[in-house]
Amino acid sequence: MNDQRLLMQMLEESGALRRGHFLLSSGLHSEAYVQCALLLEDPVRARKVGGDLAELLRQFHPDSVLSPALGGIIIGHEVAAGLGVPFRFTERKGEEMGLRRGFSLRQGERVVIIEDVVTTGRSTLETAALATSRGARVVAIGAIIDRTAGRDPFDVPFRSLLKLDLPSHAPADCPACRAGAVPAEKPGSRPEAATARGTEARVERSS
Ligand SMILES: [Zn+2]
Repeated sequence: MNDQRLLMQMLEESGALRRGHFLLSSGLHSEAYVQCALLLEDPVRARKVGGDLAELLRQFHPDSVLSPALGGIIIGHEVAAGLGVPFRFTERKGEEMGLRRGFSLRQGERVVIIEDVVTTGRSTLETAALATSRGARVVAIGAIIDRTAGRDPFDVPFRSLLKLDLPSHAPADCPACRAGAVPAEKPGSRPEAATARGTEARVERSS
């Protein structure tokens, strides 16, 4: 089995690939959604995926890995572990992407930006712009999944483990919306799992 087939199998086994009507963080609507947190829930799987992605980026000789929170944190960390370089993350405060927690980049540092999924590339581009503004040099971008459908938005090399052509639409052009389907769900915002765990925890404490 090739690596792409294996990754597809891992996405399905972990429940990371979901079908429905979703509002992506990019603002687009889609009939499918990939929740990479479920793929990466198993640390052994996360290390395997991160190691594979690290091998695609090694040729760019990065000094460090930088990822936007939260989606990029686990995979970015695993890629950095595979490459043997430091890992840092950016985070949004309000609308603005920032480098906090005492993280810094040195002048000329060769940085790769790592994401879980790239669709429009918005947060990746913001992270890259931030790195550049701090004097670092973005040498490549990597993601587990490329959902750009060939619209590569980057001006540096972009490597991914899997190209998934899951159509996404502007809300006005969304076929599911037009068909009067249930409103688009913002993935990750539904609390069932947390509620179920919370109930379990309460039961344990009271017994
Ligand atoms: Zn829609």
